[in-house]
Amino acid sequence: MALTEKLRKFLLRRDIDTPYLAVDLDIVEARYLALSAILAPANIYYAVKANPAKEILVRLRDLGAHFDAASMLEIRQCLEAGIPPDRIAFGNSAKKARDIAEARERNIDLFAYDSRAEMQKLAAAAPGARVYCRIFMEPDGAEWPLSRKFGCPTDSAADFLEEAGQLGLRPAGMSFHVGSQQRFPARWDVGIARAARIFSELERRGIGLELLNIGGGFPARYRDEIPPLSAYGAAIRASLAHHFGDRLPRIIAEPGRGIVGDAGVIQTEIVLIAEKSREPDRRWIFLDVGKFGGLAETFDESIRYRIRTPHDGGPVAPAVLAGPTCDEVDVLYDASNYTLPTALGTGDRIEILATGAYTSTYASVGFNGFPPLGEYYI
Ligand SMILES: *Cc1c(COP(=O)(O)O)cnc(C)c1O
Repeated sequence: MALTEKLRKFLLRRDIDTPYLAVDLDIVEARYLALSAILAPANIYYAVKANPAKEILVRLRDLGAHFDAASMLEIRQCLEAGIPPDRIAFGNSAKKARDIAEARERNIDLFAYDSRAEMQKLAAAAPGARVYCRIFMEPDGAEWPLSRKFGCPTDSAADFLEEAGQLGLRPAGMSFHVGSQQRFPARWDVGIARAARIFSELERRGIGLELLNIGGGFPARYRDEIPPLSAYGAAIRASLAHHFGDRLPRIIAEPGRGIVGDAGVIQTEIVLIAEKSREPDRRWIFLDVGKFGGLAETFDESIRYRIRTPHDGGPVAPAVLAGPTCDEVDVLYDASNYTLPTALGTGDRIEILATGAYTSTYASVGFNGFPPLGEYYI
C-alpha cells in the first residue's frame, strides 16, 4: 500500500521530533469499512488493545463499530470516547472480580471466559450477564500467536456453557482467535467447524446459542506478501455457510491489527551507522526507536516491517537494525536479512511502515531515558 498524500506530507515536517507514530484516520475508516463489507453481516468489535487512541475510538464509534476491551482502563477509554456500553465487550478471559463488577455497573453485558474459575467469578460479580466461551486454537499460520495462554479444549466448551447457565449467567455463544497476523484464510474454518460442533451439542442439551465470535487475526501488510482481504472474507463466508447453513448465529469479529496496522507510520532518525570488524559485510544501523520504544513485535523478529528511506531505488547492502537503548536485546532485525540503501547516513529520517497497531502502547515509559513514542492522528 502506497502512503496517502496526507501521510506523505506530514512525514516531511521537520518541526516534530522523532521517533513518532503518525496515523491516517481515513485509512482506519477505509479498513473498517472494507472488513465490515467482506464479513457482512458480522458486527465488528474493534480490538482496542491494537491502538486505543481516542481519535481512533471516536472515528470508529461514528461508523457504528463495536469494541472489544481487555481491561477496565480500555472500557473507561471507550466510555469516555462516547461509546455506549452495549457496544462494548469485556473480552479478556482473565479478569479481576472487581473489574467485572465495575464493568457490570457501567452496563457492560458481554464477557469472555475460558475456564470454570473465571465462570464462577463472572457468576458472582456479574449475575445474569451474557457470556461467551473461548476455545483453544493452535497457532499455525499466525506470525504473532495468541493461543497458548487462552482457550479451553473444544470438548469442555459445551459443559462450560451449560454450567454458566446453571450458575445464573446467560450463555450467549463462543469465540476463538486464529492468532494475530494470520497468513492463512483457511485457518478460520478450523475454529468455525469446532464452533458448529459445540452449537449442535448444546442444542441437544436444549440450549440455544446466539453468538459466534470469530476473533481477529486479519493481517497488515508487512514485508512478506499476504493474501488479499477478499480471500479472508470468501474463506470465512464459505466456511460459515458450510458448517451453519441457513442457521447462522449472530457473527462478530474482533479485528485489531487489520484495522489500524496499515494506517500508521513511524518516522525514526538514524543515530549511527557503525561498521563492526567482526562483521565486515554488514552495517549496524542504530535508530532512535527500538523494542522499548514501541517495536516490541520485533521480538524473535516475528513481525517484519517494511522500511521506507529517502534513498529507495539506489544500491542496497545488508544491515542489522538496532534500537537506541543500551540493552543487548534491543536489536530489531539481525536474522531477517534486511538490506538498506548504501547512501543512508547518520541523521537521515526513515519510515517504518504499517506500524499503526501494537506500537504506541507497547512503548516503555522511558527506559534508558528514551521517551515514549510521539503520536499524531491526522
Ligand atoms: C488481541 C485480540 C484481538 C485482535 O487481534 P488482531 O490479530 O489484532 O486482529 C481480538 N480478540 C482478542 C480476544 C484479542 O486478545
